Amino acid sequence: MTETKETMKISRRRPPRFELIAGNVSLDFVNTLDDRHIKPKELLETYLDLVRFGEDAGLLSTPQVDRLFERSYLEPDLAERALHHGRELREAIHDVFWAVMNKRPVPPGALARLNAAAQAAAGHMHLVPAKGGGFLWSFDDFGDFYGLLWPIARAAVDLLASDQLAYVRPCSSKTCEWFFLDTSKNHHRRWCDMTRCGNRAKVQRFYVRKKGSC
Ligand SMILES: [Zn+2]
Repeated sequence: MTETKETMKISRRRPPRFELIAGNVSLDFVNTLDDRHIKPKELLETYLDLVRFGEDAGLLSTPQVDRLFERSYLEPDLAERALHHGRELREAIHDVFWAVMNKRPVPPGALARLNAAAQAAAGHMHLVPAKGGGFLWSFDDFGDFYGLLWPIARAAVDLLASDQLAYVRPCSSKTCEWFFLDTSKNHHRRWCDMTRCGNRAKVQRFYVRKKGSC
């Protein structure tokens, strides 16, 4: 058993995989369905991918990741259900933000799903004294398969109810549909990420100009 555990720990060690550029974990979560409307690429193929997202996003500590990896091997059906639930939550978050950005009516089903997830999250939250004074919200231990979805749901509803909502944008690239929170000083950020899409657009403009000047 010890050997199996050690093997699992070794097998999951890897560099960060998810590109977390959105400035809000709920938007980074939306971006785990890549090329959503063109050629969808699912980045959360297994429950372990969901755990890895939680690890990359700083939602899970190393012991919590180890525990969820171990539990998902022991209870694969429950892990699969949690993955399915996570994807449904992701799509609900996407649909609500998409409607807001496109000035369309918010789909009631998506809002209801997000509300339900936020209410479930609230049942696992505790106010605890913070170091250096004040208080902060702390979540129950994340041994629960659904635990890492709690802070994601919470981040989504907090953002929707905040004055930052106006700064949630889609990437300006025609082929990229990632969302991000524009926290730049002038709120003129256009790209999800300069290296990912900004440079690509620059190169395209350069070639268009070059072609035009020939
Ligand atoms: Zn982009």
